Amino acid sequence: MTSPVDDGVEIAVGLLHKQLPADRVVAGEATAEAVKLWNGQVRQRPAVIARCHTTDDVRTAVLAAQSAGLPLSVLGGGHDWGGGAIRDGGLLVDLSAMRQVTVQAAVEGAIGGTEARVGGGATVSDVLDAVRPHGHAAAVGTVSSVGFAGLTLGGGYGTLIGLLGLGVDNLLSAEVVLADGRVVTADPEHEPDLFWALRGGGGNFGVVTELRTRLHPHAEVTTGLIAFSWDQAGSVLRGWRNLMAGVAGADGAAAADDALDVMFGALHTPAGLVLFTSPTWAGDPARADEQIGRVRALGAPVLEDVGRRALADAVHAMDELFPRGRNYYLSSRLLPGLTDAAIDEFVRAGDVMPTTCALNVHHAHGAATRVAADATAYQYRDEHLVVEILGSWTDGDGAAETGWVRDTERRLDAYALPGGWPNLMARDDPRAADAFGSNTERLLAVKAHYDPDGVFMAMPLPR
Ligand SMILES: Cc1cc2nc3c(=O)[nH]c(=O)nc-3n(C[C@H](O)[C@H](O)[C@H](O)COP(=O)(O)OP(=O)(O)OC[C@H]3O[C@@H](n4cnc5c(N)ncnc54)[C@H](O)[C@@H]3O)c2cc1C
Repeated sequence: MTSPVDDGVEIAVGLLHKQLPADRVVAGEATAEAVKLWNGQVRQRPAVIARCHTTDDVRTAVLAAQSAGLPLSVLGGGHDWGGGAIRDGGLLVDLSAMRQVTVQAAVEGAIGGTEARVGGGATVSDVLDAVRPHGHAAAVGTVSSVGFAGLTLGGGYGTLIGLLGLGVDNLLSAEVVLADGRVVTADPEHEPDLFWALRGGGGNFGVVTELRTRLHPHAEVTTGLIAFSWDQAGSVLRGWRNLMAGVAGADGAAAADDALDVMFGALHTPAGLVLFTSPTWAGDPARADEQIGRVRALGAPVLEDVGRRALADAVHAMDELFPRGRNYYLSSRLLPGLTDAAIDEFVRAGDVMPTTCALNVHHAHGAATRVAADATAYQYRDEHLVVEILGSWTDGDGAAETGWVRDTERRLDAYALPGGWPNLMARDDPRAADAFGSNTERLLAVKAHYDPDGVFMAMPLPR
């Protein structure tokens, strides 16, 4: 006698085979080898994989999962550390063949200027590599293999944030396959509520098969790394705070220009534990030396590698720090600013950080903070910091590393904003209840309208 699950798998495979070539349907044991996520700790496995090449393939897969009664999930770049791309025993819509990126020149008088059409499975590097020959960059993150759709729909923090805003602020439209199989385009004129909800609510409303994103003439920037010995961490961070705010006496200058972004964090290097800064200057190249000099002057650097380089190369350079397949446990906290007490906790967390772990801090400033909190589902629009707490290990059970992540969360909780960044939350994170603040009611109404049966469960939503 077969179980209902086996029956469901058989039904799904049968329906997929009617529409998709045989080599695009994977079932049974073969699914284990067919998908490798970024986090080696993710244990769930799909029962069926539909390797989609077209929007029509996606539509077929979405309807097949529901007819067969199988849970549905969507794979982009595979970087959700909690494994949200895979539901155990479900049908996986694999978008990794839908990575085409095309650049469209600005149409005179058109809103948005130059833009790219990006396939739902494209990665950050697919986008940057395609737009670079045109002299452009997009609003991307700091690691090249992350999925562009997953990153954008969950907010999208990157080093051009001060000039371009968040990824969601650069989204012009999205083609979406809904739970009922309809294919719609969401933009400010069409399905505006869906367009609003996608910008922060992630893949909770359908499968995004293509999106249009605004491009910007910043293919090359001045960027790199300036690191300080850990005993300078407290003073460098106080200096960072003054530099960003333009406190008189820091270096006598005005508040930092939107074109200057300075990520920072803690990292073990061959030179020991360091407080690293990762400055990016995307303004006038003639001012780069002066701007980078302000960061260098925060202390006595022990490492420095900053130069004029393609943004595409800069994000590739970060990949080796976080290789695919290692074991990870991640968390984050949003801080409204760097108080002295928060700096002290940050330094204490670094003091006891296991050698394979890291802290990385994005700074939301400039253009990202000049958008109303209710303009997109993503609500955090005041200047803030995203502290990423990155636990990783190659051998053992990871108890020390996960323990350090949890301890660091607790240290920072006292200074953190309510809720948090859903893109880095585990599915059962209680902070999800507050992650959308006063946007919650509208977000849940859009969810109820477009996905009343809860087919899509991409990131944690408030209940
Ligand atoms: C090493 C690393 C670096 C990161 N750096 C940054 C950064 O600099 N800035 C930043 O903002 N974020 C960053 N992130 C967070 C990242 O944006 C999120 O984890 C994002 O969800 C990853 O998307 P993905 O497609 O790679 O992952 P996946 O695991 O494939 O997808 C993540 C979720 O989105 C859904 N999804 C993906 N694509 C689609 C689609 N086309 N349609 C519908 N649903 C979809 C999936 O079902 C899944 O639930 C980073 C994460 C990691 C692990």
